[in-house]
Amino acid sequence: MTAAIIDGKAIAAGIRAELGIRVARLAGHGVVPGLAVIIAGNDPASAIYVRNKARASGEIGIRSEVHALDAAISQETLAAFVRRLNADPAVHGILVQLPLPRHIDTRAVIETIAPEKDVDGFHYFNVGSLVTGEPAFYPCTPWGVMKMLEHEGVPVEGAHAVVVGRSTIVGKPMALLLLNGGATVTICHSKTRDLPSMTRQADILVAAVGRARLIRGDMVKPGAVVIDVGINRQPDGKLSGDVDFEAARAVASRITPVPGGVGPMTIAMLLANTVKSAERVAGLGGRAETRIT
Ligand code: NAD
Repeated sequence: MTAAIIDGKAIAAGIRAELGIRVARLAGHGVVPGLAVIIAGNDPASAIYVRNKARASGEIGIRSEVHALDAAISQETLAAFVRRLNADPAVHGILVQLPLPRHIDTRAVIETIAPEKDVDGFHYFNVGSLVTGEPAFYPCTPWGVMKMLEHEGVPVEGAHAVVVGRSTIVGKPMALLLLNGGATVTICHSKTRDLPSMTRQADILVAAVGRARLIRGDMVKPGAVVIDVGINRQPDGKLSGDVDFEAARAVASRITPVPGGVGPMTIAMLLANTVKSAERVAGLGGRAETRIT
C-alpha cells in the first residue's frame, strides 16, 4: 500500500478562504478582528513564527499588531502589558509567543490573558473546558489535526488513536480532543516501555516528539492514518518530521508530510480562533465547538 498524502497546505488554504468570508461579514457589522502578538527576547525561530502569523492574519483581513518587548522585561511589566491588551476592545485575540525569557514565569503570564481572548487555548479556563468537553479555544496544533482528520473523512469515533508525546501544547490536548471525539486513546512518552508495540495498535497515529525518524515503518499498523507533528531541522538544513516518511508511507493509508502537513493547519486554527472571538464580540454566535460528552 502507498499512503495518500494529506495536503495540510491545501486544507489550510480552504479554511483561510472560508475565514476570509467571515471576516468580510464582520466588516459589515463594523468589526475588524484584531490579533495582538507579544514576543519577548531574540529567539530567531520565534521571530519567524511571529512574522508568519502576522502575514497570514493580514491576508484574510485580520488586523495584527506585534509587540516586540525587551528580553530583560520584568514579570510585572509584561503582565501589565497583557492586561492593557485585555482591556483593548480592538484586540480579540492575544498570543504570547513561547518560549519567554528564562526569568519570566510563563504560566503566570498565560493566566493573565483574558480567557475569552486566549486564542492559543493555553489558559487554565480553556484547558479545563477541553477536559470537561465544553466549548472553548482549543490549542491550535491539535485542533488543526482534528480538522485535518475531519476534512479527510477519517472516522475518529471508535478508532484506536495512539499519541506519542505528552506536552501541554500538543500531546495532552491532542489526546483529549481525540478522546472527546470518541476514540480510544493511548498516550506514549519518553518513559513508555515498548513504544513499537503501542504504535502498531494505532488506527490513528500522532507523533509529537521532536525526534527525526523515531517512528519507523515497522512501527506503523498497515492501513493506519499517520499524523506527523514533529519539526526537526536536519544537518543539511532541511526539515523532517518524527516519522520515517518513505517507510511509513509504504504501510499507512494516509500520511501528513513535513513540511506542508500539520504546520499550515496550526496557523489556520489561530486565525479561526481570532475570528471566532471577534464574532462573539459582534454577537454573531462565534461558532462555538459543540459540547462533548
Ligand atoms: P516537547 O519537547 O514539549 O514534548 C516532547 C514529548 O515527546 C514529551 O512529552 C516526551 O515525553 C516525548 N518523548 C521524548 N522522547 C521520546 C521517545 N523516545 N519516545 C516517546 N516519546 C518521547 O515538544 P512539543 O512542544 O510537544 O513538540 C513536539 C514536536 O512537535 C516538536 O518537534 C515541535 O517542533 C513540533 N511542533 C510542531 C508544531 C506544528 O505546528 N507543526 C507545533 C508545535 C510543536
